Amino acid sequence: MPLVTTGELFKAAEKGGYALPAFNANCLEMIPPLVEAAEAEGAALILQIGRRFLQYLSPVFVARSACYLAETAKVPVAVHLDHGAGIEQVRQCLEAGFTSIMYDGSSLSFEENITRTKEVALLCSSRSIPVEGETGKVPVSESGGYGNLDWDLTEVGEAVEYAERTGVDSLAVAVGNLHRMNRKEAKIDFDRIKRIHRELKIPLVIHGSSGISPEDLKQAIACGIRKVNIATEFNLAFLKGYKDCMDAGKDEWFPMEPLKWGMEKVRDLARERIGVLGANDRYR
Ligand SMILES: [Zn+2]
Repeated sequence: MPLVTTGELFKAAEKGGYALPAFNANCLEMIPPLVEAAEAEGAALILQIGRRFLQYLSPVFVARSACYLAETAKVPVAVHLDHGAGIEQVRQCLEAGFTSIMYDGSSLSFEENITRTKEVALLCSSRSIPVEGETGKVPVSESGGYGNLDWDLTEVGEAVEYAERTGVDSLAVAVGNLHRMNRKEAKIDFDRIKRIHRELKIPLVIHGSSGISPEDLKQAIACGIRKVNIATEFNLAFLKGYKDCMDAGKDEWFPMEPLKWGMEKVRDLARERIGVLGANDRYR
């Protein structure tokens, strides 16, 4: 199966009524186990590379590794920039070979977000690469739990206007989800997802899914979510495996050994989460 864009994956997910697994790799070693999990489950994968990862390694270096594995995978894989920081980073990632882009202007005013997102959408559409935007703001949890934060949930009218004026291909929504949660305490506004889904013609995306219980994820998908972003859980799983190896005193002089322990944890968790999303057995 080739490296694909997210456009065709979304069409299949909409038809099948499931959500695409959009899993973040935050070091190169996290990429192979995510692809292996998708292959083992017969699922498409959106392999996400976040802007923080790109502060450590160049987009070209990361994209070449990710695209190589995507091109040789048994299932379709898209290589996606998660939370693109600005048009320059988007341009670099497009040139490096990313096949899907998210631009995050959610910290800007509504009008400024529309202006900047539209620029990104035009640049991407000139290369036939789909773009995900965000309106409303998904906050970052400081405690790992569901604290008192400054909520800016996505409004239906705002979502419709944003989508029409920017030309984005999918939309990340703030519906009670939080980034960086390490406990499954998020309280999701399912009715809001349903209302946005009813009015909007493009697929909906939920971020911060590490903090959402499997039951709530399933319900969110039934309400219209078609892409589920998970990052924190995979970071924690990878580091747990790494630490277990070091604590066990195994081969700690050779870096690949603890990394391999982390990779195994990532693969197991990814297989389990793909099942929750109903994305398994779609590509056999
Ligand atoms: Zn996010």
